Amino acid sequence: MATELMYLSDFDVLTGAARVQSVSVDDDGRTDVVLDRTCFYPRGGGQDWDTGAIRGATGEFTVDEVRLDPEGVVHHLGTGPIAVGDEVSLAVDATRREINTRLHSAGHVVDLAVERLGLPWVPGKGAHYPHMSFVEYTAALTPEDGEAARGRIQVAVHEVIGAGSTNDIRFMPVSEMGAYCRNVPDNIPTNKPARIVLYSDDFGVPCGGTHVRVVSDIGTLTITKIKSKKGVTKVSYAVEGIN
Ligand SMILES: [Zn+2]
Repeated sequence: MATELMYLSDFDVLTGAARVQSVSVDDDGRTDVVLDRTCFYPRGGGQDWDTGAIRGATGEFTVDEVRLDPEGVVHHLGTGPIAVGDEVSLAVDATRREINTRLHSAGHVVDLAVERLGLPWVPGKGAHYPHMSFVEYTAALTPEDGEAARGRIQVAVHEVIGAGSTNDIRFMPVSEMGAYCRNVPDNIPTNKPARIVLYSDDFGVPCGGTHVRVVSDIGTLTITKIKSKKGVTKVSYAVEGIN
């Protein structure tokens, strides 16, 4: 049965109670724990997984990696004492989550800036890791155009973050997302509830990652580089204090 994903309906959830459904050993010899519900984010959508601890009557299980499988089951991989049926408390590493959330949200703000500027770029993949943060678009630019766009996007992201709007979560069928979202990919995962996050009334993103509640929490966002190659334009960025 699919794991209930607590982080989908709550921006800030880092703790909670759950029950252990299964305990097994993966190919690497790590213990694989499945719970009925979880606040641990599994890697996905260019955002890294949470780490933290699962505490029960027998001790503490350290979560090193979190994965979502095609059936919607979250696997907590790590080490420590844990058994089926245990009632446990969950504690996500808050510092790591905050970094991942701010980096991931920054990627959406870059996209919002591109939208505000009316650039006819089609969003592609993104990566929101401390060692590598970028969003890609289908667009062919000369180096001069890229540099000009970098300056304009930089101004626009400062405006969006400075305005400090509050995000909103909405669950809805994929068929209704087009009313709120500029771009609804045709490969939205079907192994988790369909959800959008509204960065403004007219800018929703179909996304299962974790997001800041208040956009100003991202901090200072810098567009570090725009590189265009073979019709793909990569916008790299950094968030002050992270990368
Ligand atoms: Zn996202």
